[in-house]
Amino acid sequence: MSLILPGDRLASAMEYMPGPGVYERDGELFAALTGELVRDEEHTELRVKPVVSVPLEIRAGDRVLGRVQSVRDSMVTIEVVRVKGNSRQVGTWVMGSLHVARMSEDYVSNTNDVYSVNDLVQARVDETKPALKLNTKSGRDGVVGARCRGCRDHLKVVDGELFCGECRKTEARKLSSEYGQVQL
Ligand SMILES: [Zn+2]
Repeated sequence: MSLILPGDRLASAMEYMPGPGVYERDGELFAALTGELVRDEEHTELRVKPVVSVPLEIRAGDRVLGRVQSVRDSMVTIEVVRVKGNSRQVGTWVMGSLHVARMSEDYVSNTNDVYSVNDLVQARVDETKPALKLNTKSGRDGVVGARCRGCRDHLKVVDGELFCGECRKTEARKLSSEYGQVQL
């Protein structure tokens, strides 16, 4: 399933009317929330159906673990699988978004220098409504497990940087101080 993210351009306003979850700006239609795109051809209307409802057990201030699903220019999406300190897995599939401004205390010019698809990430929950918004500015938060982009081997921390012993290369990430110590 392909997930629509807030701000995604969906169509020209000449083609469709904006329905729930869709807004118009300068003659174009954009998604207002995370979800699944629905084309209602009968009413020439576009809607975004939210597929993500945040389970009640996740609250602002919680620390969660998840996997990076996609990396974009201004945000990454993270599939949250567990609330830390709670042995239960999150019952349903929950997507959280991590905006570039909330990734690090340092300025991030390229999100690819900070996260990569499939990284295991520890994050703090900033907001749960209307969508799950995450934050990894704290030293404890960030990547807690990662594989090499080349050979997929586990990366190790060497002199504060992630290093692939196979490829003899370092990779840039926003590292958590708990890298390698957190299990899903
Ligand atoms: Zn490698």
